[in-house]
Amino acid sequence: MRYCRFLFEGSTHYGKVDVRAGEWWIVDLAEAPEEDLAFRLQHGRATSWSFDFEPLSLAEADLLPPVTPSKIVCVGRNYREHAQELGNEIPKEPLLFFKPPSSLLKPRGVVRLPGLSERVDFEGELAMVIGKRVRNFDATADWHTVVRGFTLANDISARDLQKKDAQWTRAKGFDTFCPVGPLVSDELNLDAGVTIETRVNGELRQRGTTKDFIFPIAGVLETITAAMTLESGDLVLTGTPSGVGPLKAGDVVEVSAAGLGVLANTVEAD
Ligand code: MG
Repeated sequence: MRYCRFLFEGSTHYGKVDVRAGEWWIVDLAEAPEEDLAFRLQHGRATSWSFDFEPLSLAEADLLPPVTPSKIVCVGRNYREHAQELGNEIPKEPLLFFKPPSSLLKPRGVVRLPGLSERVDFEGELAMVIGKRVRNFDATADWHTVVRGFTLANDISARDLQKKDAQWTRAKGFDTFCPVGPLVSDELNLDAGVTIETRVNGELRQRGTTKDFIFPIAGVLETITAAMTLESGDLVLTGTPSGVGPLKAGDVVEVSAAGLGVLANTVEAD
């Protein structure tokens, strides 16, 4: 199952995504997940199957973030080399922080560099989409039962404010600091390792495999849900590999992984 969320003729829709002749296409409409209350208000039901939909190239669709999370929980320092490149110790348990839903940015949306910061970094990451309400998850249980699928995210970070503030709320929480998409897929094989790459202006800057996670998916879920309930549609960013670096106005930043497409965003001064 792969799906995206998009605007078409002024309305929000969900679409089934598939590969045709090597290109990504929205091949049909899909049912909205239960957490998208705005969609249900707009359409009065879980589907928008009231019109005939012609397949649409994902590259030409007016994509939205594929998720409408109640919260975005992030793991810091989940790859050894990234912890070390910022001069940090390898953590003994997952380090958690939030990004607000107001930081969400659609694929091809513009990351705005805030005037309050002099250093804004990219952090390409794999993100999991929660599939049902979960509390006190046991790390020995099968995490597939509570994870709907995966997507790509960019944990944009104002590095100077992150160092200056005791809390990371400001550094991680600016509007446009959480690009997500373009699609959600449940067809990844995490056990085989998923390679996440980040490019800036076409140049490869980050390349990491989920096989190098310090804390794997089940452990991350156990730690988060020992503290808080995860709701259907919530987003969990799993940490970034080494190679983070600053963005400047005019840059194009792309996060990609096989089976998840490319999350591309441009960068402009605010
Ligand atoms: Mg991060």
